[in-house]
Amino acid sequence: MAKMKKTEVRPFKEMLIQLRARLRGDVSTLANAALSSSGSGGSSSSAVPSHIADMGSDTYEQDNTILLMNSEGETLTQIEGALERIEGGLYGFCTECSGKIPKTRLKTIPYTPHCVKCASELEDDTY
Ligand SMILES: [Zn+2]
Repeated sequence: MAKMKKTEVRPFKEMLIQLRARLRGDVSTLANAALSSSGSGGSSSSAVPSHIADMGSDTYEQDNTILLMNSEGETLTQIEGALERIEGGLYGFCTECSGKIPKTRLKTIPYTPHCVKCASELEDDTY
């Protein structure tokens, strides 16, 4: 089976590292910073802090969708596993049947260890 090229894997690796950082607590650091800066004064509660709107990039929204699909601890374990598979050159292949996982699926769930078929058979939460 043909491995994914390093240049192909890199964006997924970056997504996984970002996700992992956020699950480990960087999320709350960002959230606290936003809350504390908007909490001063309190006279204009209707004003939307502009720096929060600035954070709303496409990737940011996509990441939130991913986080909602699974419990945080489970996701973190799967992210670690995916990063290990990247290092071992096995990323992009199903751990169950060794079949190739479509890139469209990896873009949605970059840490999934299973192809669509196996995920549904295993009743995998990431499906
Ligand atoms: Zn499979």
